[in-house]
Amino acid sequence: MSLKGKTAVVTGSNSGIGLGIAWEMARAGADVVLNSFTDRQEDHDLARQIAAETGVAARYVKADLSKAAECRDLIQQAGRCDILVNNAGIQHVAPIDEFPVDKWDAIIAINLNSAFHTTAVALPMMREAGWGRVVNIASAHGLTASPYKSAYVAAKHGIVGMTKTVALETAQEPITANAICPGYVLTPLVEAQIPDTMEKYGMGREEVIKTVMLERQPSREFATVEQLGGTAVFLCSDAAAQITGTTISVDGGWTAL
Ligand code: NAD
Repeated sequence: MSLKGKTAVVTGSNSGIGLGIAWEMARAGADVVLNSFTDRQEDHDLARQIAAETGVAARYVKADLSKAAECRDLIQQAGRCDILVNNAGIQHVAPIDEFPVDKWDAIIAINLNSAFHTTAVALPMMREAGWGRVVNIASAHGLTASPYKSAYVAAKHGIVGMTKTVALETAQEPITANAICPGYVLTPLVEAQIPDTMEKYGMGREEVIKTVMLERQPSREFATVEQLGGTAVFLCSDAAAQITGTTISVDGGWTAL
């Protein structure tokens, strides 16, 4: 599955799943553009480390994807975008009648609107190059709902719908668009939910992981960021050229229940 000669832009890739995807793209030979909203030495060091260990070109571009102009500018700055991975995401948990409006707006902006803006700029580049792959990181919550996650569930269902639409708009071109729907992966986003859940249920960390989180995941194991990266690389391979407009669940059986 060589992606040599391709450039992959992975949004929200200075940690978690995005970073795992960037690593696997680079291991498959693609040049990578990493991104987040910070501009720290350690962000740029991640790109240097990927370049040093895999031999591809890698760089980090700061862009706050809650802002439309910065989403569009990220793709312009990349200069080339054969593979677009819309991965950036945030989460907030609250009953809908208490959901803070600013949190709702931020979740929809980062988890959904950013993918609209990046895709709109990247598609003409893909057409120019005669090849393209859009890989959107949705969630099991893009296919099922969960109480107290209304904005997240809405954004993830939205991105699944947008993925199918992009696939139809590019169906007769050498471009595909698909969504990956992870279940639980132990990243900073999930780590951040553990303390509140411990307090809410009066449980220890391991008990929360076992009885609250992995209870939903029939495999009773977290997926890894490497497995998510491998799935994204597969969707970019020639073997997946006729796979478009679909979702691939990497959720240990969650959505089969
Ligand atoms: P994470 O917190 O490790 O990664 C989120 C990334 O998004 C980070 O790099 C962060 O810097 C970036 N980001 C946040 N706000 C941003 C902004 N304004 N501009 C640019 N970048 C921004 O979490 P993760 O678990 O790796 O999440 C990655 C994606 O996977 C998200 O879309 C998330 O919804 C999805 N997902 C995660 C899980 C899970 O269990 N971890 C499950 C299903 C879906």
